[in-house]
Amino acid sequence: MTNSKLSILMIKIQYKNNGQVKRRSKFMDSNYSGSCLCGKIRYEFGKFKTNPNHCHCSMCRKFHGAAYGTYGMVGLKDFVWTEGEEFLKKYQSSSDVERGFCSVCGSSLYYRRTTQEKYIDIAIGTLDQDLKTENLPTQHIFVQNKPNWYQIDDKLEKYSGFPERKT
Ligand SMILES: [Zn+2]
Ligand SMILES: [Zn+2]
Repeated sequence: MTNSKLSILMIKIQYKNNGQVKRRSKFMDSNYSGSCLCGKIRYEFGKFKTNPNHCHCSMCRKFHGAAYGTYGMVGLKDFVWTEGEEFLKKYQSSSDVERGFCSVCGSSLYYRRTTQEKYIDIAIGTLDQDLKTENLPTQHIFVQNKPNWYQIDDKLEKYSGFPERKT
């Protein structure tokens, strides 16, 4: 490809989405993008490893300041911080778990097992678009830790703890 053709292609990529600047990404086929509340941190990825689930454990509840946290597992080889990685802060919530958040606005962004180098669990409340139907959450986990002020009223599978222990 000639240089001029390449620059025309780059311009097209940058100005798709009704003129909104599409940020540079190493994944030209990213399906999902997300950002924190202040917008300093942005990420993209291609696909989920497993369907997201709703976690009702007290740690996710506190990390999100919400009834529960919803996370989707993504392969790190398929994931990139496209902006503001320097604003990420990590909190070690267990001996082998770190939780990442924006140091400017406090948005909860991810959960990651430090013993697992290949995957990251993205807090999907930070996505900038809806989930595709095939990626919708399938489970509630750690429902035994759910507070009494939130009632689950959907038909998704429920597990008292991790998915191997069904309620
Ligand atoms: Zn932020
Ligand atoms: Zn949890």
